Amino acid sequence: MNCNRMLQVIMRTAAALLAASLPVAAQGIPQAAPGIPAGPPPASPLSNTSAIAREAQGWLADLIKINTSNPPGNEQLAALYVAGVLQKEGIKPEMLDVAPGRSAVVARLRSAAMANPSKALLLVAHLDVVPVDKSRWTVDPFGGVIKDGYLYGRGAIDDKGMLAANLAAFITLKRANAHLNRDVIFLATADEEQGGDASIRMLIAKYWDKFAAGFAINEGGNVFVKNGKVQYIGVQASEKVAVNVAVIARGASGHASQPTKDNPVIHLAAAIAKIGTYSAPVHFTAIVRRYFEGVAALEDDEIAKWIRSMDTQDRGEHAQRVVSDASPLWNAMLRDTIAPTVLSAGVANNVIPAEARANLNVRLLPGDSMNALLNDLNKLVNDPAVKLEVQPNAGLAAPPSSLESDFYNLIVKVASQEFGGAPALPFQSTWLTDSAQLRLHNVQAYGLVPFPLTQEDLRRMHGDDERIPLAAFSKGVDVLTKIVEEFAVTH
Ligand SMILES: [Zn+2]
Repeated sequence: MNCNRMLQVIMRTAAALLAASLPVAAQGIPQAAPGIPAGPPPASPLSNTSAIAREAQGWLADLIKINTSNPPGNEQLAALYVAGVLQKEGIKPEMLDVAPGRSAVVARLRSAAMANPSKALLLVAHLDVVPVDKSRWTVDPFGGVIKDGYLYGRGAIDDKGMLAANLAAFITLKRANAHLNRDVIFLATADEEQGGDASIRMLIAKYWDKFAAGFAINEGGNVFVKNGKVQYIGVQASEKVAVNVAVIARGASGHASQPTKDNPVIHLAAAIAKIGTYSAPVHFTAIVRRYFEGVAALEDDEIAKWIRSMDTQDRGEHAQRVVSDASPLWNAMLRDTIAPTVLSAGVANNVIPAEARANLNVRLLPGDSMNALLNDLNKLVNDPAVKLEVQPNAGLAAPPSSLESDFYNLIVKVASQEFGGAPALPFQSTWLTDSAQLRLHNVQAYGLVPFPLTQEDLRRMHGDDERIPLAAFSKGVDVLTKIVEEFAVTH
């Protein structure tokens, strides 16, 4: 069945599911204590987001319960759920089918009869999640469990949390009947985690006119909490590029009882050991330079001194080493990195194989050349029995989003104001997001997951017991709504 027809058919079911979920959702929110006045009633839906945050928490719990582990993804059910939420608000969503069982969903709040894509603001988040190892979780990863002030579940942060927050900001504008000076477009994508044939690449190829925009907000940056307060806000404006490289050693197969020197397992192991010692040269992109300037002011004197010396003639190299050793994130922001991830060789315990292979997951700085890196690695490995081959589907470097745009300045201003004056710094993520594809289509896309999170909580994304603090979720909904409102209504 065509998805939009299916949408109509299941609308009643979705609405019922939604209604049933709301009381459950409200459980985790602390109520005002008896005898303490609850405060003045909200002046307008835009000025008080606590009610919508409570609803959004329910949507998030429901979305967690729809298992969209990718592979295989199966995002269509989650897309239909989101469409149901929108339809209940009198918004007309559209399902964008990309593959069997895999759909995105888009909706638009219009500012004028004629759309002006170059001004439009796109709120984007993805529906799929990474798989779980259920045996390592202490709760059901698809249960939407609330415990000790946290909502647990795969996707609680990445990216169903952002999806629910986008939905809240979008619906708030609709409920307020806000007069918009630009279109606001809501988009929930599929297949972000694998970047395959159902991903935003395909959506752009098939449906670009449905969500073409000049500006976007997406995941990619974070609000970093340290020692109980927000240390800084990282606003992602660029990202690294992923490329997989196969390391292939070849030799003659034979009987393991009479080993020879051309055993490919030995050649491969030696090559990987050499690659493991390699450290690519440091390249400062404009964003990384500004990031470190900001970060130096937040760190203790000792590390700040080294951060500030990284670009100097005399102490630069040593400083780069100290800073890289201090943080795997900083190391990866400064240079291309190589992580061997998969090894394979051998058919039987007593057979020397003819081939041994490894995969290197390479993350290039945008602008760096894969060929230059390959040259370095070939020189280092220096073994004719070993070949390095770039694998298909290498990422493309996108131009960075501007650090001068009105939208960037507004995100920085509102986020800093809302998080106690903490600085908002431009951020180049070492991880990938849908924003690279948007930037390749001239969208000024910025990454900000608006929830204040500790390292401990961030670590759980893609790991076990992923969870979001309920208080951080409501705060994030509030901040995101303010950003979207200010840009779409007053800007
Ligand atoms: Zn994500």
